[in-house]
This record gives sequence, structure tokens and C-alpha cells, in this order.
Amino acid sequence: MGKANVNMICDIAELSSLFEKSSSLDDFLQAAVSVVAYHMQAAVCSIYIYDDKTRDLTLRATQGLSLDAVGQVKLRLGQGLAGLSLKELRAIREARGSLSPKYQPVSGIDEEKYQAFLAVPIRRGLTRVGVLVVQDPEPDYFDKKDEQALGAIAAQLAAVIENATLLQELHRRDAVKPQEPAGAKMIKGRPASGGIAQGRATFIISGRGGSFQTPAGVPDGLTVKDFDLALERTEQQLKDLQRQADEELSDVAQLIFSAHLLILADDEFSGEIRRRIEKGSPPAEAIVDLVNRYIQIFSASSNPRLQEKVHDLKDLGHRLLENLIGGGRVQGDYSGQIIVADMLLPSDILKLATEKAEGFIVQGGVTSHNAIICRSLQKPMVMIDPQQFELFCESCEMLMDGNQGTIYVNPSQEVLREYAEHEKTLQELEATAQVCDVTSTEDGTRIHMFANINLLSDLKPAIASHAEGIGLYRSEFPFIIRNAFPSEEEQYRVYSRIVESMEGREVTFRTLDIGGDKVLSYQGEVEEANPFLGLRAIRFSLLHKDIFSEQLRAFLRAGAGGNTRIMFPLIASLDDFLEARDVVYSCMRELDERGVPYNRDTKIGIMVELPSAVVLIEDLAREVDFMSIGTNDLIQYMLAVDRTNDQVSKLYLSHHPAILRAIERVISVAKNHGKDVSICGDIAMDPKMIPFLIGAGITKLSLPSRRAYEIQQAISGVNAKKAAAVARRMLACSRVSEVEALLDTQTK
Ligand code: PEP
Ligand code: MG
Repeated sequence: MGKANVNMICDIAELSSLFEKSSSLDDFLQAAVSVVAYHMQAAVCSIYIYDDKTRDLTLRATQGLSLDAVGQVKLRLGQGLAGLSLKELRAIREARGSLSPKYQPVSGIDEEKYQAFLAVPIRRGLTRVGVLVVQDPEPDYFDKKDEQALGAIAAQLAAVIENATLLQELHRRDAVKPQEPAGAKMIKGRPASGGIAQGRATFIISGRGGSFQTPAGVPDGLTVKDFDLALERTEQQLKDLQRQADEELSDVAQLIFSAHLLILADDEFSGEIRRRIEKGSPPAEAIVDLVNRYIQIFSASSNPRLQEKVHDLKDLGHRLLENLIGGGRVQGDYSGQIIVADMLLPSDILKLATEKAEGFIVQGGVTSHNAIICRSLQKPMVMIDPQQFELFCESCEMLMDGNQGTIYVNPSQEVLREYAEHEKTLQELEATAQVCDVTSTEDGTRIHMFANINLLSDLKPAIASHAEGIGLYRSEFPFIIRNAFPSEEEQYRVYSRIVESMEGREVTFRTLDIGGDKVLSYQGEVEEANPFLGLRAIRFSLLHKDIFSEQLRAFLRAGAGGNTRIMFPLIASLDDFLEARDVVYSCMRELDERGVPYNRDTKIGIMVELPSAVVLIEDLAREVDFMSIGTNDLIQYMLAVDRTNDQVSKLYLSHHPAILRAIERVISVAKNHGKDVSICGDIAMDPKMIPFLIGAGITKLSLPSRRAYEIQQAISGVNAKKAAAVARRMLACSRVSEVEALLDTQTK
């Protein structure tokens, strides 16, 4: 029997009559799949319906697959062949569906036995409605004609399905009280900064919801006096916040509330509001009008810096109104709120964290600076994809888990209970988890534990966790947050604080590591096709020797009377090192000439982060005072895997045989030359890798303080002699899988 009579089903009349006979959309869809399967002589016909709010496709009817799967099987837009067909709005025909790289097996629907696969999108114009799929056990069963026929059927189905779903939606809206929270949802994002937070969603979306509105519940009879009082209170709150930020975040928080304060002081703003109130305008209305006028001016500006200030304006408007009517936000802060944003600058995160925001959900990749700032501020952060944005609703209750990257919208009681338990256990653990001041292996090998710090606020935890010194100070943060390069004096003050608080313990300053994914807003237009291979780290410093020298002088001066070292990132050759060291020497000469005190014994070393540095390690070891292995970049560059690209994260392997051998080689060469060697990349905080590192001869690690307890525990469970034997076996492995097998046995 041929499949030519598919035309029959394309007849709108037949579909309409099917619809009339059906008591619901689901009934109709079920009838439709049976008819299509029959006419196409396909073993399977299924319809997936798309929900553009959740961006999910749900199996709503099937002939041939397990009926239990109806309503249960869900695909994301772009997921599997059906999801791809809808995402790209094109037919997908495969002779053997399961061989396609995009094929995604769905458990519980017995799909495996069907080879031939044909999916066509169901669409109304550009609106995605669903996908119509036919499958058959005979490979290559469907041809071009079937594809055209199925496309024609889908076109007829589209109008009916769309109308039916719209109606359903309308009824649902009528039935549901508008205030009632939407159903519980779990959204999977990417973890960027650990911790758990609970609160209401507050949206900060650039370019959306531009205007600012008068809140409900403004009492009548407010006067100029009330406004003046609100103004005074707002100014005081902002100054307090600024002071608090100055104390806690002095390295980076330079005048982060300056825009707020400036606008507030502007007569064109607050003066104009007052004049309008005096002319009879209600105070709340006058505030809203003026804030909106400023938003318009700022948004229309061609200067991106002014555009960035729109959020500050809204924030200021909220504060003024809260202080005027005395409701809602406690002191106008963000307690109890989780920020959902499409784009945040590092300075926004600082501001919002100072204003007590509980956590951050931000669109985009895990760019290191925002994630690092959140980690240093101990605020959870999860990154999401742009299409996931629509899954959130303003003011809905949320629970976010920054460790897993999971977000629960309207979490169930069960989820809340589970997390409360988890939190309690963590707190108990923290109370008992005391880091000892000396770390050694089970058989007495002493391991030195240093701290990695990014912000001055990391110093306190470093001291509390008995860090033996600072093994890596990432000096770029004061540069990233500001609007211009910080002066030598400003830098000197920040660096001095580190040296002072370490009271004679060793401090390793790393010179500026910008470029790659850490870009300075004031660096000018530096569009690079491959920023990680571009003007990054020491390359930037060597190109801008004036900026480099200012930083070096600040390091040298801050080191006076201390035990300090200077370390260059991304050294690719001995030439790089010698050129950079010469700049240090010339800074020393300059300070001598000026009679300024500095640390003459400053040690000068390198980060080993590039394959070329590993190859040249003997040559480098002869010259440097010390080296520290930066495995985060070493893995990225040795394996050619972008450390920020999710799509290749499975290839980013710290236990790759090449990485293990590189680490071992650097350690042994450094030791042979009597040079101090440490590890400051994330591998140093991976308990699984600790036995290998110790077995390979490392005795100095630098890691974030919050991981110190766990790593100290891991170290104390290692037997150094046995670890050396296991490390030798790992170094002999040719394959990743062999290393993995050894790592597995080590945990058993
Ligand atoms: C590294 O690359 O391992 C490192 C510690 O430096 P960063 O993570 O700052 O690039
Ligand atoms: Mg690095």
C-alpha cells in the first residue's frame, strides 16, 4: 500500500471534523496522531506541544509509543531531534535517528526500536506551536514526499492547536487568582558562587521595564516637609552604605554610591522635585516623574557609562519613595531579595551586596570576575541562559543553590525543609571545623597551606584559617571595579593592608592579569578575536610599562619591612621573564633615587601556566626565585579547552596524563634547582587530586580559605610514601581512563 493518500489528511475539513468530535485538545491530538499514523503507514506518530513560557516541549499525544509517557516526556527547545526541529523551524529526516549526534534517547517510551525518523515543526508564522513526529522500524522509511506531506499536515494542525491552547490559557487565567503563585519549578543553571539563598525575585533588566512607576498605597496629604525628610534620610542611608563599603571593601568600593549621591545633590533633580511639590504636585508623583525623566535622558545617551546608571536611578527612586511613605523595603535595601539580572557589572554586584541582596541569578557565562567577586563576598551566584530568563517572575519566591546551580521557583515545603536541614548540618560542621595551624600528612610530611585572595575582605578568613601566608593575590580587582587605572598611591594603600595584616608572613603579589575574560571598561576598544590568546596578563604589562611600573613600585613600597614576592602571570618565555624583571629592577633604582623605602629582598617569580613555560622550565628555573603552577590556565592552554566554555567543560581535565606529567616535571625541576614551588590553581582545592600532588612532591599549596578545612583533612589522610607510589603509576598512564581508574581505587 502506498503512502500517497496522505493528501486526505491535509484536508482541513477532515481535521476540523476530528476537532468537532473531540471533547478536548488532548482528545483531538490523540485522534490526529492515529489518523496521521494510519495515512502515513508509520508505526509511530507523536505530537509535542510547545510552551513558550517554560521553553519546554511536552509529548501530548502518541500512537505507537508508550501512552504512559504522554504528559511526562519533556524536551527543551533544541533538545533531541524533535527539539532541534522546532528550534530551527525546519524538518529533520534521518534514515537512522539514533545515529544522529543530536539524537537524545528518552527513557520509558520504547523508542529505541524505531530507526526512521521524521519531524516537522508546527508553527504559526514565526510562533512555535509544537512538533509532529513520525517514526518507523524500517531504516530510511520516509522520503522527501513524506516530509512535504507531514509539513502540510502540520500547517493545518497549527491553527487548531494554537486556538485551542490560547483558549485553554484564557480559561486557566480566569480560574486562577492573579496573586496566586505559579507552580513550583526547578531551573538548572551553572554554579558560579557557592551558598544557599532564599528570597523574592527582583528583576534588574537593562532596557526592559524602563519606566518607574508610582507604588500602590501612597498616603494622601504628603507635603514638601515629608519630601525633605525623605531626602535627608536617603542621603544619610547612602552615606552610611558608602562608609560601610569603605570599611569592608576599601580596595574596590571606591565611591560605589557616588552616582546616587551626585544625582541626589543635583538641584535639577531634587530641587526640581521640591519645586513641583510646591506647585501642587503630590510628592510621590513628582519623584516618579523626575526619575522617569532622568531615566529617559540616561537611556538615550550614547555614552554606555550613563546608560549603566539607569539602575542606580531606579534604586534611588525606590529609596526616596520608601523613605517618603515608610513601607516595604527595610531601609530601602535588598534583604530577602534575590537579584535576577541580564547583565551586571562588578560594581553593581558590590553595590547590591552592600545593600544586602541575598544572591544573584545572572544571564551569561561564568565570567571569572563576577563569579570571583560573589565568592569573595560569600553571595551565591548562578548563571542562566537567555532563554531561561522567561522562567522567572518578578516577586516570586525562590530558593537558590549556588553550589549546584539549581534554582527553585515557588519551592515546595519539602524542598524548603530539605535545605533547612542541609543548612543546619553545614552550620554544625562549620562550628566544629577548626583549621589547625600546622598541616601534615598521616606520616608526618609537612605541607604548607597558603591562601589565595582577591579582595581585602578575603584577608579575615585567610587569617582565621591559619594561612601561612598569601600564595596568590589576584591584583586585578581594584582595576576591574574602578573607572580608571588606580594610582600608585591608591594601590600602595591596598597592598600595604595585605602586608600589615599578614604580620611578617609571606605575601605573593601577582601583577595585573587582565585580558582574556577580565576586561577593563576603560581599557578602550580592544576587540580581540581570541582574547585568551591576546593581550593578556604580562603581555599587557610589558606593552604598558608606565602602568606596570606604577604597580611594581606600589608592590615594592608596600613590601617594606615585610616578606613579599612579585609574581608574573602568563610567562611564555625566558625573554618575557627577563624583560619583566628588568622593569622591577628599574623601579627599584628609581625608588632608591627618590629615597623611598621598599623591600630590597622582594623575590621575583613566575606563574607556570603555559605549555611553553613547561618546555622551558629548566631555563626558567635557573633565573627565577620561585614558581607557582597556575593549573587553571595550564589546563586551558595545554589541552586547548576554553576554561569558560561550558560546551567543552568535559574536556577540561585536571587529571589528563599530559597535565599530570607537566605538573610533576615543574615540581622536580624546581626542586633540583632549589627553587620554591607551589600550586595556586583550583587543583589545589580538589581533594581527589591531593594524593597525586603530594606524591609528585608538592609541599606548598595556595587555595581559597573556605576550602582550607576540607583540604587539610584530605592531606592528613594521605600517606606520603604510598602517594608517591600511586603518583608514579599515574604518571605512567597513557590514557585518561587509566588515570580515572587509579583515582577511583584511591577513594575506595
Ligand atoms: C591559574 O591560572 O591557575 C590561576 C591561579 O590564575 P587565574 O585563575 O587567576 O587565572
Ligand atoms: Mg591564570
